[in-house]
Amino acid sequence: MSKNVKFRIAVLPGDGIGCEVMPPCLALLDQLARESGEFSFDFQEHQAGAFAYKETGSALPASALAAARNADAILLGAMGWPDIRYPDGTEIAPQLDLRFELGLYAGVRPVRTFPNVRRILADDRAANLDFVIIRESTEGLFASRGKGVVRDDQEASDTMVITRAVCESLFDMAFAIARERKRRGSPGIVTCVDKANVFASFAFFRKIFLERAALNPDIEARCAYVDAVALYLVTKPWEFDVLVTENMFGDILSDLGAGLMGGMGFAPSADIGDRYAVFQPCHGTAPDITGTGKANPIATFLSAAMMLDWLGQKHELSAMNHAAKRIRVAIDSAFASGMKPFEIGGTATTKDVTETVLGALETDAVQA
Ligand code: ATP
Repeated sequence: MSKNVKFRIAVLPGDGIGCEVMPPCLALLDQLARESGEFSFDFQEHQAGAFAYKETGSALPASALAAARNADAILLGAMGWPDIRYPDGTEIAPQLDLRFELGLYAGVRPVRTFPNVRRILADDRAANLDFVIIRESTEGLFASRGKGVVRDDQEASDTMVITRAVCESLFDMAFAIARERKRRGSPGIVTCVDKANVFASFAFFRKIFLERAALNPDIEARCAYVDAVALYLVTKPWEFDVLVTENMFGDILSDLGAGLMGGMGFAPSADIGDRYAVFQPCHGTAPDITGTGKANPIATFLSAAMMLDWLGQKHELSAMNHAAKRIRVAIDSAFASGMKPFEIGGTATTKDVTETVLGALETDAVQA
């Protein structure tokens, strides 16, 4: 009999709908672990976020950060709340602090469409989108967070930072992801998205991209300006495979990607560094729907699937990759059978969506 490997997961539900989508996600992971018998989880939940700040004076208490550092992986819901701010008026976003603290330079954001989910684009080719946006997550324009200056109420500036070390790691990961996708039938193309025609920082970004591309000749390297990519993501998104870009551009383009999927509640993400990784839905705390039961947990389920894939690959435990695949198949089958969350005009609550996906897991026989 194969042994059972236990993984310690730091769980930070956060605020708003983050607290509503996390329990169903843990139930899903527990069910998969039980059915597999080859892995299990020790979930260690910690308070962090805007309400933690309000109650304790710290948005990311030392105990939560320590738990994150000691965990095999970190699951995060969503953080922030409109009325709770730092004294200088800025938003409480410890999820950004975590990216900097743990060196999570690669924000991996897959864009994939689902059966029966209302499509924004009428073109038939938009029915089966499958591409990945990789958003650099520790520097770029966000390096200026908390450091921007306003002079005499007349002029403001924020500084963009691009470093060789982070770019090399980021681009290498983009090529590795494209290679893995190519093995499964994708075309094997990485597109560097920048504004190299205007800014020295982006010309440097592109230069390093082309250097790393030369070391990865099996993958096609393309470069495009961000304004053109914004257009192409609407006019021909099916032509993309892997896109890699700076922090601010990735922040914006990945919401566009979420729109192509059906909404923020569909878009998963993984923030990955050399040692740590945080898995969380792309969406925020959605105060407008908090407490209504309407939050779509699909993005969180898909983020959990990304966690299973990352852990499975890292620990060479194919049962976890199989479980990740089971989540994606169960979600597709739930949508194919007519599941319609509130987010896309249906009536399925968080609880309904969870039950339908868990039910689909039971009935789907998936080949490893
Ligand atoms: P942030 O400012 O941190 O991005 P936010 O919640 O204000 O947080 P988004 O996450 O971009 O903004 O979400 C925008 C809107 O999309 C929300 O106000 C909500 O109406 C909807 N939304 C987001 N996530 C979900 C979800 N999981 N299920 C249903 N609707 C969602």
